[in-house]
Amino acid sequence: MTNSTIEQKTKESRRSSAGPSSSVSGQSNEPRPDCPLCPRLKDYRDANRAQHPHWFNSPVPSFGPADAQLLIVGLAPGLQGANRTGRPFTGDFAGDLLYGTLIELGFARGSYEARPDDGLTLVDCRIGNAVRCVPPQNKPLPAEIRTCRPFMKAAIDEMPRLRAIVMLGRVAHDSTLKTLGIRAPDAPFAHGAEHQAGSIRLFDSYHCSRYNTNTRRLTPEMFRAVFTGVRKHLG
Ligand code: SF4
Repeated sequence: MTNSTIEQKTKESRRSSAGPSSSVSGQSNEPRPDCPLCPRLKDYRDANRAQHPHWFNSPVPSFGPADAQLLIVGLAPGLQGANRTGRPFTGDFAGDLLYGTLIELGFARGSYEARPDDGLTLVDCRIGNAVRCVPPQNKPLPAEIRTCRPFMKAAIDEMPRLRAIVMLGRVAHDSTLKTLGIRAPDAPFAHGAEHQAGSIRLFDSYHCSRYNTNTRRLTPEMFRAVFTGVRKHLG
């Protein structure tokens, strides 16, 4: 597919967004705290709430300003990370590399201390997840990814200045493409790959999970190179 065709499809997709159903979310584009749309994930949330009543245990909202030019899309909240703290990538291993890299490249300010009241702010950057609720074993089912996609679409549609999306891992990549109305063969996933989708530049990266970094599938240098490319693109 040519860039111009991808551009047209992206515009159509963003225009045609109906957003989440109002019967689901009330008047907001955010899922309600007890969102029932994925029964398995709701049951898991409820079980975690019973076991850890002081944890967040709800759909985790995006973090960062809606007028940012950069959106980072992860997979889903980690059990003891965002599901516990209520802020994406906060409190588990993946956050150390992500927030350290964002601070280094000027996309975040302050210090990351793995808790939502650490004062860290994002600069021209927003972080969300393809799936808002923690899945067992970090593995959402295809139906759950599909069911949560309208919330991702709503998050994208409320970003008028969006010019770059970093997709952390294949699930985030695939769901973002579907959200934007781009066919997978037109933008295949590979670490370091870039695709132009209308006015938005898409950047692929392996997920900054503990497993990927421990196995050296993703090194801090490889991760930094992705965000250096984003910084060059945004200027
Ligand atoms: S993953 Fe998304 S759609 Fe599913 S229950 Fe959570 S908020 Fe609702």
